[in-house]
Amino acid sequence: MRCECGSQMVATEATSDSPYLYTLSGLKNVFLCNIMIRRCLHCKIESPIIPAIGELHEVIAECLLRQPISLSASEIRFLRKHAGLKAKELAKRIGVTASTLSRLENGKMPITPSADKLVRATVAAEKNAARAQEILRREALLKDARTRIHARLNIERIRDRWTAAANC
Ligand SMILES: [Zn+2]
Repeated sequence: MRCECGSQMVATEATSDSPYLYTLSGLKNVFLCNIMIRRCLHCKIESPIIPAIGELHEVIAECLLRQPISLSASEIRFLRKHAGLKAKELAKRIGVTASTLSRLENGKMPITPSADKLVRATVAAEKNAARAQEILRREALLKDARTRIHARLNIERIRDRWTAAANC
């Protein structure tokens, strides 16, 4: 396969030693392992070959719903989009204005424990009512995400399945 510049692209594998930072997700800490990356050595463009993106996003979303620290701004946006909800719709469901949700998603406003919990439950409810109930029953997280460091999240492609690494 050729790059737009005309050079031949080389295929390399993203392994657990050199995972691919999946910035297209809008998240800053998600790394993919065991996929092929096409690289143009001339213009340094990288183009990952990502199989089963729907399943991958499902695995990422599940990690975010489960994570023991508060959601970050970009994680709220990822979950909302994953659930197929427009900003206006999610804002309505969690009882804030669209501009408040926008400030939450842009990191311009701290995410309160109740907002964190409501976002998770609302997103989970789109696909799995039991999961939403489970989230609503657990205690709210007390710390604001901005005070915590988000661990990197490695997601591996193993035997044609996306699998989250043990830290998820
Ligand atoms: Zn090129």
